[in-house]
Amino acid sequence: MEKRHSSVEDVLRQIGQHERFVLTSHARPDGDAVGSALACCQILRAMGKHADVVLHDGVPRIYRSLPFADQVLQSHRVLGAYEAAIILECDSIHRTRLEGLEDRVLISIDHHVSGRPFADVNWIDPHAVATAEMVFRLAREAGVKFSPEIATCLYTALMTDTGSFMFQGTNENTFALARELVLAGADPAYCARGIYFAHSVGKIRLLGEALRNLSVEGHIGYAWVTQKQMERCGAIEEDCEGLVNYVLSIGGVEVAAFFREMPEGRYRVSLRSKGKLDVAHVAESFGGGGHECASGCSVDGPLAEAVRQVLFQLRRGPSVQ
Ligand code: 5GP
Repeated sequence: MEKRHSSVEDVLRQIGQHERFVLTSHARPDGDAVGSALACCQILRAMGKHADVVLHDGVPRIYRSLPFADQVLQSHRVLGAYEAAIILECDSIHRTRLEGLEDRVLISIDHHVSGRPFADVNWIDPHAVATAEMVFRLAREAGVKFSPEIATCLYTALMTDTGSFMFQGTNENTFALARELVLAGADPAYCARGIYFAHSVGKIRLLGEALRNLSVEGHIGYAWVTQKQMERCGAIEEDCEGLVNYVLSIGGVEVAAFFREMPEGRYRVSLRSKGKLDVAHVAESFGGGGHECASGCSVDGPLAEAVRQVLFQLRRGPSVQ
């Protein structure tokens, strides 16, 4: 049966009909994935429901200071008598990399342009600047009071997904939402310190390696790291998050690509745009997805071939409408 789009009211109706919820997001979760899942879990508990967060890769180090992050279960399988699963920031069961979701009532809450209805209830709003904005609306509609813990999780999600309020799409509503969250108890300096001033030494060493591999061809900049470089630096997969932004920070570069070699020899690609070129289409052409200005995908190696293919698509990629 064809899946259809739903609304916040549909999500609330489903929440009203069930008692036990599991919440999850995509594998290799980013700030919006972790922050929105943690906040939504607390909101459900405030509504008197039983709720747990399960993430395939657990919580990346930089997000571990978020309230209730220590309660997140890291697993590749959802066990337990959950009637419904809320999947946030994620366009398929496959991307959660979790087994055991299929038999539950599935609720998807996502703000990606590439988001597709795959669940029983699909609330997808590409106008929301982060999934956190949708979770905020959900709590407000449900009449749940914003605790400082919920506000901290949502503020961190909003801050990271908007690139500290710098990415395309950030508008007056974003700041109005940030204001509400600060009024509810989120401390902007505390949230920023936990994310931007808490890198591992390995990550900063890896940044050095990546910048040594930097190339700029016209308006396209790219950099890459290999498994060997990661090992040499003592860096892990999550340490690659955000390195692409250093490439995008170069004047004249309109789109940036970052290639990370994966253990099996394929490459994870992070794509970023300053706003003129649409990188969601490029990622989708390789089976990935994301937003016009931030997207990702995986491509086959070797490195030279991966770079060639991605650059080819970036050169012919569409402009933002
Ligand atoms: P990142 O480069 O930080 O991994 O991802 C940037 C954005 O693209 C995020 O919003 C992320 O959810 C999305 N994204 C990254 N990889 C994929 C993918 O393989 N499939 C889909 N659908 N979205 C992706």
